[in-house]
Amino acid sequence: MEPVRKCAKCEEEKDLTEFYKSGTKFKYTCKACTSEINKTKYKKHPDRAREYQKRYQKMYRDSEKGRAKAKAYREANSKKMAEYQRIYRCLP
Ligand SMILES: [Zn+2]
Repeated sequence: MEPVRKCAKCEEEKDLTEFYKSGTKFKYTCKACTSEINKTKYKKHPDRAREYQKRYQKMYRDSEKGRAKAKAYREANSKKMAEYQRIYRCLP
């Protein structure tokens, strides 16, 4: 049997894949509820949410993981772009 977890908000038992992880621990609420909560938070404090998002993005970009991801993205994209240009050049 798949491990399940009970959401603290909707109280449904869901698969662990339906929960976000923060660090090594799973969140108390499922993904659907988490995004619902975030939406409400965003509506209540749009500035604070934006500020938090900005900070989080910066933190992520500066992190090892974020840098690796950005690099991989650039590499994948440049390959795609090269491919696109190659096809484009072949067109009449
Ligand atoms: Zn839920």
